[in-house]
Parts: sequence; C-alpha cells; structure tokens
Amino acid sequence: MLEIKGLKVKLEEEDKQILKGVDLSIDAGSVHAIMGPNGSGKSTLSYVLSGKDGYEVTGGSASLDGHDLLDLDPEERAAIGLFLAFQYPVEIPGVGNMTFLRTAVNAQRKARGQEEISAGDFLKEVRARAKSLKIDADMLKRPVNVGFSGGEKKRNEILQMAMLEPKMCVLDETDSGLDVDAMKLVAEGVNALRSEGRSFLVITHYQRLLDHIKPDVVHIMADGRIVKTGGPELALEVENNGYADILAEVV
Ligand code: ADP
Ligand code: MG
Ligand code: MG
Repeated sequence: MLEIKGLKVKLEEEDKQILKGVDLSIDAGSVHAIMGPNGSGKSTLSYVLSGKDGYEVTGGSASLDGHDLLDLDPEERAAIGLFLAFQYPVEIPGVGNMTFLRTAVNAQRKARGQEEISAGDFLKEVRARAKSLKIDADMLKRPVNVGFSGGEKKRNEILQMAMLEPKMCVLDETDSGLDVDAMKLVAEGVNALRSEGRSFLVITHYQRLLDHIKPDVVHIMADGRIVKTGGPELALEVENNGYADILAEVV
C-alpha cells in the first residue's frame, strides 16, 4: 500500500534538514502508529505525503499502490486514495461544510470514473455519518471549520475521511486537544472504517489514542528517522517510561 524509502526532506526556505531517511512500509488493511517526541518530524512526514508546499525532497521515494506520490499534485494524491487529517485542520471561510464535502466526494468519484452522487444519497450518507460522530446539522451548514472547537474540527476531519472512503488514511495527532469522550468518538469513527483494503497511519504523541485504535505496528520517530519498530507493546513502553529509555538504547 504505502512504501516510503530513505525519504529525506529539508525546508525550502531554510537550510534545515528535517527528515533524514525515513523508511516505512504499510500493508493493505493494517494500522501503523508513529509516536515520537515533539519536533521529531512526524507532521513534516504527513505534510510531505500530502504534497504541501514549503518542503523539498532531497532523497528517497514514497509511493501509494505503486504510484509515485512525490510526482503527483495534492489533488491527484487524494484521487488515488490518500487522505490526511491534519494536526491543525484549516478553516475555509465562505465555503459551507456540506458543499465542501459534496464537492470533494464528487471530485473523488470523477477521478475513479464514477458518476456524481445524487443529492439525496449524499444527504442521507452525510447525515448518518455525522450522527455517529455527534456532529450536528448546524455544523454541517457552517463554513468549514470556522469557529469550530478543537474537538469539532477533529471530528469534522473524520467525517471528511469517512465520506471520501480513502485507501490510505494518515491522521496527524487527531487526538491532541480532545477530551476523553471526543477521543473515543474519533477512535470509533476510525475503527468503523477499518477494512481489508484500507490502511491507517496514526501519528500521535501520546499512547492513549492507541488504547482505542489498536495498531498492528508501532514506530518511534526521533530526529527525522524511524529509530525503533515493534508491536503495540512499544506504545505501552512509551506510556510507562517516556521516550528517554528508547532513545538512549538506539543512539
Ligand atoms: P513533530 O510533528 O514530530 O512535532 P514537526 O514535523 O512539526 O515535528 O517538526 C520537525 C522539525 O522541523 C521541528 O524542529 C520544527 O521546528 C521544524 N519545522 C517544521 N516545519 C518548519 C517550518 N515551516 N519552519 C521552520 N521549522 C520547521
Ligand atoms: Mg509537534
Ligand atoms: Mg506534529
């Protein structure tokens, strides 16, 4: 599914190397987590996968289902099934949430050679999915993320993800700023989408989200590299001992 090899990334504006050779391979249907101290490059990895400006790839590769991601526009990456839920979801003043969702869904369908979804079917689906995420009708009408609380923004990201039915979902600190109940809602939303053909990369600073979204594989990132890979027990080790022990072991 997702294959990242020796990925090196620096800032475009500054001579600062952030990713120093990231290797990561995620099979179809599996859930991987990346944990790591602040500033280790986790968000940068998700930005580079999404095609955000401001970063320069200086080495390595990243592909999704055999497509060279780094060669595609952000829209093309989405069309082949990549979805990113960002640590800081963007506000889009003037664009209604529902309109935004429908446009995104139809763009996705077009790229897959499918017909546009009918207004009725769209409404039915968006209402059902919003309800399970406890997103009320009012939030669907308001401009995307404008004036939403932190928790509402994160739930709205999961709603977008559910509507787009991506193959590869990357969630960057979707748990940060959420209280326990909101985090459980988000985790349930993600778990409901788990399937054989869909993979997840869950980036989180803390272990608690991984109590609810059980990962198959856990990676620890530090200073622009993945320094350790293991099973869910690795997340518990971080929870109990912090990063210091693991980092001392690998350097
Ligand atoms: P994490 O998500 O693991 O906390 P980030 O990817 O956000 O880490 O950041 C990695 C490093 O790159 C940090 O030292 C951060 O300050 C730096 N960095 C990332 N983006 C920028 C930027 N646009 N300008 C300056 N420094 C940046
Ligand atoms: Mg951070
Ligand atoms: Mg981050």
